[in-house]
Formats: sequence, C-alpha cells, structure tokens
Amino acid sequence: MDHFVYRPDRHDGGDHVAMHCEQLPAEEIARLAGTPCYVYSKATLLEHYQRLTAAFAPLAPLVCYSIKSCGNLSICKLLGEAGAGMDVVSGGELYRALAAGVPASRCVYAGVGKTDAEIEQALDAGLGASGLGLFNVESEEEFENIARIARRKNAVCNAALRVNPDVDPKTHRYTSTGKKESKFGVDIERAKAFFRRFGRDPHCRLCGIHLHIGSPIYTTQPYVESVQKATALIDELAAEGFTITTLDLGGGFGADYETDQSPTLAAYADAIVPLLAARVLRGLKIILEPGRTLVANAGVLLTRVLYIKTSGEKTFAICDAGMNDLLRPSLYQAFHFIWPCRTTASFAPARRAKDMAIDGLLPIDVVGPICESGDFFAVDRPLPPLRRGDLLAIYTAGAYGMAMASRYNSTPLPAEVLVDGSTLAIVRKRESYEDLIAHERSPEPVVTG
Ligand code: PLP
Repeated sequence: MDHFVYRPDRHDGGDHVAMHCEQLPAEEIARLAGTPCYVYSKATLLEHYQRLTAAFAPLAPLVCYSIKSCGNLSICKLLGEAGAGMDVVSGGELYRALAAGVPASRCVYAGVGKTDAEIEQALDAGLGASGLGLFNVESEEEFENIARIARRKNAVCNAALRVNPDVDPKTHRYTSTGKKESKFGVDIERAKAFFRRFGRDPHCRLCGIHLHIGSPIYTTQPYVESVQKATALIDELAAEGFTITTLDLGGGFGADYETDQSPTLAAYADAIVPLLAARVLRGLKIILEPGRTLVANAGVLLTRVLYIKTSGEKTFAICDAGMNDLLRPSLYQAFHFIWPCRTTASFAPARRAKDMAIDGLLPIDVVGPICESGDFFAVDRPLPPLRRGDLLAIYTAGAYGMAMASRYNSTPLPAEVLVDGSTLAIVRKRESYEDLIAHERSPEPVVTG
C-alpha cells in the first residue's frame, strides 16, 4: 500500500519498533526537518501512478494529476516526468503546472469562477490549442466569456462541457459534486441545448464531456452510472452532428484511510474499462483527474506531543500541529489513522483502523494548539500510552493536507520533505515569522487626490 512501515528500532535491544518512511526512521526525519512537517514517499507516489496507468491501460488515458490535492512542485514534477498531465482549477495551479515543466497541452482547466485574467493566462500558455488540453467549461456565461476572449486574441481552444450526471457519489456533502443541484457543470438536460447554442463556435471548440461527481467515491457504481449517462449523451449529440472526441472522467477514486477501505485501482478500472474500450478503439480519448488516490497515502504529517493533559474524564495529547496544518478532521470530521512513531513491539500496528484491538490502548483526544474547540485530529481514539515529546504520524495526509494548510493563529506553514530511499530533501522549507508579515505594509494611500 505504501512505504511507511514499522521496523525494529536499531537503537534498542529489539523491544521497540520505529516507523520508517522508505529507509529513513521518522525520528531522523523529524530531527532534520523539525515538526510539524509533511513527509512524502517518492516510491509510494510513483507506485500509485504506475498502478493507475496499468489498470486503465486499455483506455490509454491521459492522467491529469489534480494539483489541488497536493501542489508541491516536486510532487508535480515527479508525476509530470512520469508522463502525467495536470488538472488545474485556478491561474495559480496553472502557474504551478507550468513551473513543474508540464506543458499546457497536457493540462485541463476546470473551476466555476475563471476570471478574465485567468482565461487570458491559459490561452497565452496555449491551453486547449493543441494536445489533449481542455478548458472544462462550467456554465453558459463562462463559455461565452472564454469564446469572446479567444476571439479577441484570435486564438482557438478546445473545451469540454462539465456535465452533472445526477448521480449520488455517497460521499461527504461538501465534496459531492455530481448531483443536479450542484454548483458545478450543467445538468444533462441542459447539455444538449448548450451544444445547440455553442457547439459550433469557431474559437472555443466544444469537443469534450467532463464529469467529476465527487471525492472520495468508495464504490464503483456511481462511475458506472455516470459513464453510462455520458456515453448516452455523446450518442445523442452525435445524432445531432456534434462530435465528441474526449471524455474526461474527473477524479474521486478513494484512498485507504483505513486498511482495505477503498476499492483497488484495478477494481475501478474493471468497472469502467468495459464501458469505454470499444469507443476508445474508435478514437475517443479518455482523461482521468486523480488526486487523492495518488498522493494521500504517499504522505504523512509528523507532529510532536507537547503536553499530555487530563480534564474531567478525558485525556488530551496536545500536539505542535493543528487544524492550521491539517484541516480535514475539523472540516469534514475525516478519519486519519494516528500512531506513535516509536513504540514497544506489542503496539506495532498490523493494520490501520478506527478500532485497534490491542491490549493496553487508552482513549485519547489528539488535538492541536489552535484556539478553537474544533482543532482536533482524533476524539477518544484508542492509542498506546503517550508522553510529552513523543512523535506521532498522522497517516494518509498527502492529499488535501498541506494544500489546505493556513497560517491561522499566525503559525508559519510547515516544512515538506520528500524521501527517496535513504535520502531526504526539504522540498518546502518551514516558513519563518518574517514570512508571516512579508506582504504587510504600513498604511500608505495608493490613490491620491
Ligand atoms: N477533478 C476535479 C474537477 C475536482 O474538483 C477534484 C477534486 O475536488 C478532482 C479532480 C480530484 O479529486 P480526487 O482528489 O478525489 O481524485
């Protein structure tokens, strides 16, 4: 699954185990990078990418990594070098993709609120002009705006219409996007009218259908339903003379926050490939936009226990990371497996689960230092007894971890490190207090008179 594993602790008589990222002990990483810090495993990331491309090989998809899940340039570069394109949703993400060396011809650009400046930036970069790159258009007004700007620039770009297949992905309501009443895309009935109105525009060429129904999606059925609806739409459009050359299936494949929680990538592919293989042979191009499934388990957040505190019936482990570093538990009540990086062998976790049935575990709230009651990573979580100074790993933190981190309570953003075998690289240095105020100025009027 990943390369974060417990091995006998070589500084000990054999009674203890220590968590390693690839060949490096977590304690060593924390010593070099400090805490809190995000740790990414290169081998895990690339294995996930290879597993995905192997599973979907019959569709020969362009895999556009969803930058929003983890935008670190080194992560984007590794995936870009492995052959991935990028799924971007802002000018900043497009800037990152280009900075990572991924050409705009391998980028797809979604997002309901693209500004004029962002559209110009994407057109100037050549997005949609060649290759499989596409604007993923989310509304009539946005289409008109892209076409207007392209016309003014005398440019031509390819676009896909994002369609809501009205399928329930059975995920958190904040990350469910494929229902009819979603702010994303247009519903399938409007799609035909959309093509009739805009499908022959010479500057913004509508040649694709885009789906993204939610994240994470832990069953294959919502994909089957939405692909079936999309292919039916493609046929209806063909009957009206509109040729769809590209189907972008979006992202949303699950990740194992608990052991074996998610279908394997091969299981997703087994459900989807038969629905599309014949069309691919006839020339349909497929795009996938995975984020979480590639990077979630390629990263952990390391945090140090600052204090153990008892209050009423409760025991709290107060850590140096908080909701400012990893927001998912506070925002979505998301589960992240947490375990001390060094423990006695009897506490070595054989799997990752909410209810770990090991003798001697104690219920603990793992919380951060932020002044919010919602600043927690786990509530009443069975854990080995903890002490001040213990190093904890918060697992499956590679996706939507650092990407959502903030400086709330004036906390500098944490470091990010990339481990490759027994070498470590700091791929984003920890911010300093100077960084916190670097963009602030004493009030000076900009407009006078
Ligand atoms: N594509 C689009 C349009 C998205 O909005 C998202 C996530 O929100 C993704 C892809 C990536 O989803 P995931 O990380 O679950 O694969």
